[in-house]
Amino acid sequence: MDDQTWDVIIIGGGGAGLSAAVSATERGASVLLFEAEETLGGSTQLSAGLFTAAGTSVQAELGVEDSPEKFFQHYMDLNRWLLKPGLIRAFCESAGPALEWLISLGVEVPAHESTNAHMPGLCQAGVEDLWRGHVPNGQGYGLVQVLERAARSAGVDIVLNTRVQSLLSDPHGVRGVVVDDEEIHCSAVVIASGGFARDRGLLEKYYPYALRAAESLFVAAGPGSRGDHLSFGEQVGAAVAGEGYGLMLPTAYFQSRHHWEAGFPPRSRIHVNSAGRRFMNEDASYAVSPGLIDRQGGSTWMIFDETARESLPGGYVDWNADNILAEVAAGRLLCADSLAELAEKMTVPAEALEYTVAAWNEELPAGEDPVFLRTDSLAAKGASEPIAPLDTPPYYAARYLPAELVCTHAAPEIDARARVIDRYGRPVPGLFAAGEAGGGVLGSTYVGGGNAVANAITMGRTAGHSAAEHRGSGRGASTESLTEETT
Ligand SMILES: Cc1cc2nc3c(=O)[nH]c(=O)nc-3n(C[C@H](O)[C@H](O)[C@H](O)COP(=O)(O)OP(=O)(O)OC[C@H]3O[C@@H](n4cnc5c(N)ncnc54)[C@H](O)[C@@H]3O)c2cc1C
Repeated sequence: MDDQTWDVIIIGGGGAGLSAAVSATERGASVLLFEAEETLGGSTQLSAGLFTAAGTSVQAELGVEDSPEKFFQHYMDLNRWLLKPGLIRAFCESAGPALEWLISLGVEVPAHESTNAHMPGLCQAGVEDLWRGHVPNGQGYGLVQVLERAARSAGVDIVLNTRVQSLLSDPHGVRGVVVDDEEIHCSAVVIASGGFARDRGLLEKYYPYALRAAESLFVAAGPGSRGDHLSFGEQVGAAVAGEGYGLMLPTAYFQSRHHWEAGFPPRSRIHVNSAGRRFMNEDASYAVSPGLIDRQGGSTWMIFDETARESLPGGYVDWNADNILAEVAAGRLLCADSLAELAEKMTVPAEALEYTVAAWNEELPAGEDPVFLRTDSLAAKGASEPIAPLDTPPYYAARYLPAELVCTHAAPEIDARARVIDRYGRPVPGLFAAGEAGGGVLGSTYVGGGNAVANAITMGRTAGHSAAEHRGSGRGASTESLTEETT
């Protein structure tokens, strides 16, 4: 490496880094990418690949009338306008073109309706007003395969098993990186090293909410999510955006893996609070369900019966019929022959729990749920069978809480061109960031299904273009030039 130079160095080979690499080569830059792990992909390859975007060809084929303007309004409203409108407008305008770009590289998103994040097609995965969740064939793994192929065929030099230690900078900006104690020079650096879900100290500092799950906390994010972006940012005095934000999925206390492996709770279940009352649609999107749980101010529970337990399919680690019994035997999962007895163990009022279950049994199996509208979400998931009543003892109660840490949002702040911004509000010359490593796009409320992958790919692509442009002019690429490039 000593006698070679590159225009752009990219730190991290997940969705953002690979997108940045491919897009920088499209602007004629030579690119060197370092990946700390043995393989490319990071959290992106573990994901469903669900990608939120507006005004796409897939939506058009299905007759969904959408636009970046509608997406922007929805995004800002959901985040109570706490994000920078200019950055979010650029993201919302660029997400559709980024999806079309992926399609042009070989990603397939079939133009049919999908009822969940694991079925390729277009779905309404979260609380979005319109169908915006694009699920690709092969999911996150498929996205990474396509991007890796594109990067290799564009001549990107990829170095695996190599963790970048620090940035090289001088008063004029960033000039390269240090790896294996060696200095490697370039014109621009893109930080795409993902989040910090696996670093407890950084969680304490930037996302202490995650630690409220205590011993139930488990991290789904990739092994490379160690938070190096925050130390790179500190080196150059970068501002931090997205502090206190991240994505925690609610799970039963005993779940220990993402549901690919953990399995799924039974469809016939009720979520109740410490008053013994239902407080949410049990299918509520993870965009809002952690907030609903937090508002209960105490324990929340998932209740199901013996029929539901017996109906759990085998082959999954956590949600299988035997594991439920093992948790009961260990004294961790509550079990009783009557609802009154279960209520006593839960320390919730028995009359409330009995009434809640009786009302649920009357309404849900008959296809009605006037208070929480679960019937709507079951229909959106393509459920055709009526939901079974909860009337077969014994009954079970599992603590239910936000405990699965998927991604973190605090990172060096970026602007619409993916330039890293310093504490004084100035762009740091030669430094760009994207994905979980680029702060400001992912806010307090997760938009979609598909917010984080869309952020990684869209802002990664922007960062690659801007970094390549920086080499020539010292100025980043304009946002307009990216959004006009819809294929
Ligand atoms: C199980 C799971 C399912 C998910 N499903 C979805 C979904 O369907 N839709 C959605 O929108 N979001 C989803 N997410 C979140 C989303 O996948 C991530 O937020 C997003 O893909 C992050 O992309 P990234 O490129 O920023 O980071 P990553 O994909 O994590 O890539 C960062 C890479 O940088 C490497 N790296 C770190 N430090 C260094 C260093 N110092 N030097 C060199 N390399 C380094 C890491 O090893 C890693 O490979 C999911 C996440 C998980 C864990």
